[in-house]
Amino acid sequence: MAMHIDAHQHFWIYNQREYGWIDEPMASIRRDFLPAELKSQLEKNGFHGSVLVQVRQTLDETRWLLELAENNPFILGVVGWADLRSPRLRAELESFAGNPKLVGIRHIVQSEPDDFLLQPDFLRGISILEEFDLVYDILIYTKHLPIAAEFVRRFPRQRFVLDHLAKPPIKSGSVDLWARGMRELASFPNVYAMADLEAGRYPALPRCGVRMLWAQPVDDRFRLAGVHRGGFVHAGGEPCGGLPYSVRNGGTRSGSWR
Ligand SMILES: [Zn+2]
Repeated sequence: MAMHIDAHQHFWIYNQREYGWIDEPMASIRRDFLPAELKSQLEKNGFHGSVLVQVRQTLDETRWLLELAENNPFILGVVGWADLRSPRLRAELESFAGNPKLVGIRHIVQSEPDDFLLQPDFLRGISILEEFDLVYDILIYTKHLPIAAEFVRRFPRQRFVLDHLAKPPIKSGSVDLWARGMRELASFPNVYAMADLEAGRYPALPRCGVRMLWAQPVDDRFRLAGVHRGGFVHAGGEPCGGLPYSVRNGGTRSGSWR
């Protein structure tokens, strides 16, 4: 039976100080999001589980997310935060190593200087992730795509997930830079893409992974930008190629979900 997984979701207990980035246009998400609500939504929509992704960039949050995962079996994996630039990174990751629910690490690179992905201490941190079987989630804007290609080129064995398809400039409609950058990333087989649902506006993504995105005609502009929430799953229901994250399915770590 096909297993449907929401490949990217968040939880928080809202307060203005820690979630100041939630601005006026996003006012509707200025509230708590906690497991009980998602659990019922997943059940209603025939989903079997989720991958929970970090927001705040603190080790405390990573611990909290892992605790939520511990107590809520439908949370199959956590993409947490650790300070990738820290000389203590290995020790920090070792402190989580016993926890099979930690499946990836993310840093809010979109808010950093443009060359952040190529800074030596950051690169050193990324080079350690593979030892721990951790995916790295790339959260950037379209303008960072060329640097992201240079970045992933250095790590042929590291799995990457491009979050939100690098946030294509849907409003301005200037597709060129985005399309060029995505095509370049598509040449790396270890890069996957996660896309958001824009209810009913776009047809389903036919295959998963950046590599497959450009099997579609590019002149169709952003029709690939809004697909099923958790872009690793067909809107029609078939999981496509599996998740890049090593989540556990039942008791055993399942290779088919990588
Ligand atoms: Zn997100």
